[in-house]
Amino acid sequence: MLAGTANHTMTKYLIVTGGVLSGLGKGITSASIGFLLKARGIRVTALKIDPYLNCDAGTMNPYQHGEVFVLDDGGEVDMDLGSYERFLVTDLSSDHNLTTGKIYQRVIEKERKGHYLGETVQIIPHATDEIKQAIQKVADRSKADIVIVELGGTVGDIESMPFLEAARQLHQEFGHENVVFIHTTLVPVVSVVGEQKTKPTQHSVKELRAIGIQPDVIVGRGDEPLDPGIKKKIALFCDVPLEAVVSAPSAESVYQVPLIFEEQGLPDYLLGRLKIKSGKADLTEWESFLENLLHSNSKIRVALVGKYTELTDSYVSYAEAVRHAAASLNSRAEIKWIEADEYHDELLEDVDGLIVPVGFGHRGAEGKIKSIRFARANGLPFLGICYGFQLSTIEFARHILGLEGANSTEFEPHPKHPVISLMPEQEGIPNLGATMRLGAYPVVIERGTLAHQLYGATEISERHRHRYEVNPKYIKPLEDAGFIFSGKSPDGRRMEIAEIPDHPFFIASQFHPEFKSRPTKPRPLFLGLVQACLAPTPSKSSS
Ligand code: GLN
Repeated sequence: MLAGTANHTMTKYLIVTGGVLSGLGKGITSASIGFLLKARGIRVTALKIDPYLNCDAGTMNPYQHGEVFVLDDGGEVDMDLGSYERFLVTDLSSDHNLTTGKIYQRVIEKERKGHYLGETVQIIPHATDEIKQAIQKVADRSKADIVIVELGGTVGDIESMPFLEAARQLHQEFGHENVVFIHTTLVPVVSVVGEQKTKPTQHSVKELRAIGIQPDVIVGRGDEPLDPGIKKKIALFCDVPLEAVVSAPSAESVYQVPLIFEEQGLPDYLLGRLKIKSGKADLTEWESFLENLLHSNSKIRVALVGKYTELTDSYVSYAEAVRHAAASLNSRAEIKWIEADEYHDELLEDVDGLIVPVGFGHRGAEGKIKSIRFARANGLPFLGICYGFQLSTIEFARHILGLEGANSTEFEPHPKHPVISLMPEQEGIPNLGATMRLGAYPVVIERGTLAHQLYGATEISERHRHRYEVNPKYIKPLEDAGFIFSGKSPDGRRMEIAEIPDHPFFIASQFHPEFKSRPTKPRPLFLGLVQACLAPTPSKSSS
């Protein structure tokens, strides 16, 4: 038993590692396994380890690791936590994302306080103890039967070493029945021979063994399922039973992955290995969700104007939220990705709706404002989120209120009309990490508005991540001109939702509803957008 932890002997751990290269979909693998176990009535949670030195994902550009996902407690975390929340239909806390920065910061703080009583502080045992305690804290708090621990990066990376060592120790301390290692690898096909190759898998298993870890399950990624002979070969060379070699072929939707694993008996194998008895999984709701998602006859096209559209992972929660909403309305959604710097109005001619999402800094702002202007003037359904909310306020101020030079102080220090300005409590904060207005805050909704109709409630909670807000000086003139703030903070000071009643569907929120959308529980603003996209097209008017 480890120092300073409660009774966690009942908790079991699935440790998911990656070999050969990154980007193999370990997050979806972990989330899918979690989903299948949960469907059998097992309490399961998931935790992501990112071996980089950043303390959290908050200061990173989306091109680095995809979108920054935000949790209720304000944690700015890796996008894999979004997959966990979606597949497990749960709300996680920032304890579920460990980074090297977080761990080392704790160790160094303890060292400065004299906690180690004169010892030499070392990676083993001090950093590894800190890692194990952080994992067990999640186990204890969540009261889960099984904790899935996904280790980011690739086996063999220097920065993964302390985490792999901690995982090895967990196996040693808790025993073989309580800790299972799942190794995901690439099984490439060399086009000349057209044959699946197992050598990279063999090498990465060798790397794992050198650290003292023998994988129990091998998940082989590739375009196609693994050939039976290749499964046998992997089983033989990597010393795992044949049924523990699992194919993870490319799928049209990530939501098919659980069914691909189910068919191959992966959850039953894992439960047998962990000596857990469970009932049968009921997957009917999931299957009908998938049926709608992939095969509905009705289809909509939603444009998303962003500045990181080359990497669609930068906006994954938006795309998922639109798809969830569409599936629940018996339709399929296609996203048209538009790079803000290359925006022109013709690009919106073949879409049913527009989303302008999160953003920071000036680049792309003017292209996004143009797209909002087009949607407003042409009755195109529009959903603006955070930056999109702020830009829709600027667009309305410029073109309807006639406030030339209306802008955000984020882009221009002293605009003629600072309709978006820094929140007063943000003045003078020097650090950029974890200092925004972050996480879940209540929003009060005005009765009789579109927001009220969509949420069916007068008080809601949504997640936030921003520094700027609507400048209170401009609220009255905006509202008088028809830009209505239908959602506000409980003290009425902060504008949270804006809508234009005189438009088929134009709504924008300062908060981020995409983070709380789940496959079979779509979020109201996205449902509203999709409903509007499905409605007969209104006649186009000129701006
Ligand atoms: N950059 C804006 C702000 O800080 C919007 C942030 C966002 O879109 N999440 O307020």
